[in-house]
Amino acid sequence: MREYASKFFLYTWLLMVIFQPSIVSAENLETFDVHFSVLSNNPNAKAKATLSQLKEEVNILNQYFIADDGRSIVKFRFKSVTFYDDLKNSSCKIVDLGDARRAFSLDSATVLFNHCQDRKVKDKNAINIYIFDEYNERKGFASANSYGKRNLNRPFIFLDWHRLNHNVQSPEEHEMGHAFGLNHICEPTATIKTSTNIMTSACKGGSGGKRNIGFNTAQVRTIMHYVPLIKAQLAQR
Ligand SMILES: [Zn+2]
Repeated sequence: MREYASKFFLYTWLLMVIFQPSIVSAENLETFDVHFSVLSNNPNAKAKATLSQLKEEVNILNQYFIADDGRSIVKFRFKSVTFYDDLKNSSCKIVDLGDARRAFSLDSATVLFNHCQDRKVKDKNAINIYIFDEYNERKGFASANSYGKRNLNRPFIFLDWHRLNHNVQSPEEHEMGHAFGLNHICEPTATIKTSTNIMTSACKGGSGGKRNIGFNTAQVRTIMHYVPLIKAQLAQR
C-alpha cells in the first residue's frame, strides 16, 4: 500500500514536470506595477477605495485584460497606494481633479500628469490609476465616466469610484486597453446587455455593451507593440 502511494506521487510529480512549460510561459509574461492615488475627498469614494479594494482592482485586471481566446497578455502587480489625506497638500495640480466641479478634460489631465514630480501622486515606474469623482453638466457627480491614456508610453488612468470592483461595462480592462494604445470599436446596434469587445463604445448611437469579449488578434498585436515601449519608459529612473 505504501509503495502504491509513493508510485502515485511519482506519477503526479512527473505529470507536473511534463505540464510545466505552460506554467513557465505564463510566468514569462511582462508584469506592470500599478500605483493608485485616491484623489477624491468624497466620503463614499474614500470608503469604497480601500487598500483591499485597490488590490482587488489588480486581480480584476489580471482576470479580464485577456485575449478573446482566454489567454493572458500581460500581468499586473499591485505596487502601492497614496490615500487622499496623504496627497491633499501635494504641489501637483492633478490632485484638484479628484472632485472638480467641471467637465473632465483628458488633455488638461495629461498636462497636469506630465508636470507632476511628486512620487506620492505619480509613480514614474508604475502605471498610475487615479480614483476620482467625475462630474458632468447633465448628471453632476453621479456621472461615472473613466479615462485611460497611453501618453507616449507613460500611461495613466482616471477611474471614477462608482466603477470600482468592475461595476458597469468592464471599466478596468477597457481603460487599460486605452493605456496600451487601443481605440474604440463602434457598435451602433449594441444594447447595454449585448456581448461586445472590451474596447466597444457607444460612439454615436448604440451602446458599448457588456465589453465582456477579450481583445481580438489585431488588438493583441497593438498591445504587444507597446508592451516593450511602455516597459522601457517606466524603467527610467
Ligand atoms: Zn473608452
